[in-house]
Amino acid sequence: LRPAPNCLHPLLIEESTGRQIGSDEVRGIWAAGATPASACGDAYGMLTRTTQYHTKLRARIFGLANSLKLRWNIGSNDVVCLFSPNHVDYVVAMWAAQQLGAVVTTANPSYTAEELAYQLETAKATFLFVHAANLQVAQDASRAAGISPERIILFDPAPEGMSNIQDLVAQGLREDQRFAEYRLQPGEGRTKPALLCFSSGTTGKPKAVVISHYSIIANLIQLGKYLHLTDGTIPPDELAYKPGSVGLGGKSVTVLSRVWDAHGAVRQLLAGGEYLTSSRAKYESNIAQSAVVVSQRFQLERMLESIQRYRITHLYLVPPMAILMCKSPDVKKYDLSSVDFFMVGAAPVSAELTDQLVRVLPKNCRIGQGYGMTELATIIAFPQLDQRVGTLGSAGVLVPGISARVVKPDGTLAGFNELGELHLKSPSMSLGYLNNPKANAETFKDGWLHTGDEVMINERKEVFITDRIKLIINCHNDSPPPLQELVKVRGFQVAPAELEGHLLTHPDVADSCVVGIPDPYSGELPFAFVVLRPDASARVQRSSVEEARVRADVLEHVARHKVYYKRLAGVEFVGAVPKNPSGKLLRRYLRDKAKEMLAKG
Ligand code: AMP
Repeated sequence: LRPAPNCLHPLLIEESTGRQIGSDEVRGIWAAGATPASACGDAYGMLTRTTQYHTKLRARIFGLANSLKLRWNIGSNDVVCLFSPNHVDYVVAMWAAQQLGAVVTTANPSYTAEELAYQLETAKATFLFVHAANLQVAQDASRAAGISPERIILFDPAPEGMSNIQDLVAQGLREDQRFAEYRLQPGEGRTKPALLCFSSGTTGKPKAVVISHYSIIANLIQLGKYLHLTDGTIPPDELAYKPGSVGLGGKSVTVLSRVWDAHGAVRQLLAGGEYLTSSRAKYESNIAQSAVVVSQRFQLERMLESIQRYRITHLYLVPPMAILMCKSPDVKKYDLSSVDFFMVGAAPVSAELTDQLVRVLPKNCRIGQGYGMTELATIIAFPQLDQRVGTLGSAGVLVPGISARVVKPDGTLAGFNELGELHLKSPSMSLGYLNNPKANAETFKDGWLHTGDEVMINERKEVFITDRIKLIINCHNDSPPPLQELVKVRGFQVAPAELEGHLLTHPDVADSCVVGIPDPYSGELPFAFVVLRPDASARVQRSSVEEARVRADVLEHVARHKVYYKRLAGVEFVGAVPKNPSGKLLRRYLRDKAKEMLAKG
């Protein structure tokens, strides 16, 4: 084991205030085996390691874990939900819970109370960490899910009678240690869930994807080359991170509801100087001195300011953010010369957007796409680092350790540059969907994950995603499962079946079909074809005012109950939803019809 150098670089920086965590008292302490289970344990099997943390961050995690044990006896039977925008203490809450053996579920901070209650119930959550701005929603949802109010903790100063992380950390640090850190037994990392991240996957309603400790560590090691975890054979200039790198994104600008954020959390510690060593391979954090700027919410101007102020070197955005950045005249007002690595992902990126990025970003900045999926603990393909701009249209190069096969519609294997559905095997594979054998049987077959993405892979292992062919089972009636396509709005999943199920709860709606329509900013937007009940239909036919009222009411019905990116872009009333003789919705036909209507304006 090589001793770690002292690291005096900040680890986490709060964007709005510049507050730093982990900047001081970093002593290079070696604490054999004393690591949060989520980060290390023996999750990857091959890793038996010693870890160095920034002492301050480590102390915060310890303090919070101690209080959680002391006051609520949190342990391995608990599922702790994080419901907050990005926050410097997000990782503290996550790892304090995991240090006690609890499982963590991360919820999108924009969820309505209904959506959060569904997640809390599905994940069987027992405890919540909540941002003050989300408190009302969290209280309503936890009441519905049967979680008592004293099990809701705030990230920042709390109203009278409630607890917050800061106070709990202080209290936990004052007390003697009251907990035994959860240590994974050899091999347990493969089976013990670390995270429950929600994804629509191949069936309509969001489901809890069970992600083991092993999966996360495996995916991080697959990204080792980029994350500066190397076996020493990669020349330093081919690494994505270097000493002094400052990232904005991952945890900072992507959604909190998905596993990438858990990655973000782990990456923050890796970036901050965690050293992993193993008996079989030696991974070393080469940069050990980089920081992550934690931005609460994406706001273009603030992001541009931060790039200039913190000399951001690494940016991870989803396409709509990248589009805003390219289109904004403000970009010219800021010094972006520090940006060295730019990755955009989670949804398709057009060649035009890549072109525009090349113009806006500094000349030496590497620009590429990443491709990931919750069910694989995220990253499948990552940008090539030896090229300034990845091959146009490519979603990245397959990460090491992944097996991919492309299956043509006739069931035979495609060759290079031939189209088909992508199937994957990876050490990062999740354990499947929680309590959902049907969805598991459809998605995880013979050890392969069926991605539902239509792709083409070339000889350089670059992946080109050409269409989404996810077959989603309609969950709102008993008819044979119609085929559906997942709609991706600003990188978020929107399952048509979920919206169709919800539309049926409107008193005027008899049937519906939701499709994705192209949108230059969001990528796609959901659009509904709606069949009205006879009385409503008669009213609508009699008066255009009434038609407008019912349309507005249907739009409002979705807007009121669903998170903002699931809102309908429009509603078209139809006499019947076209179906084939076996009852399947002719979704592609309607998608084309919607496009035609839009083209006509
Ligand atoms: P999620 O689990 O929410 O990350 O969604 C995963 C799905 O997002 C994939 O199966 C793809 O359909 C889509 N996706 C992710 N990254 C990309 C990308 N770079 N280009 C096109 N689609 C993508």
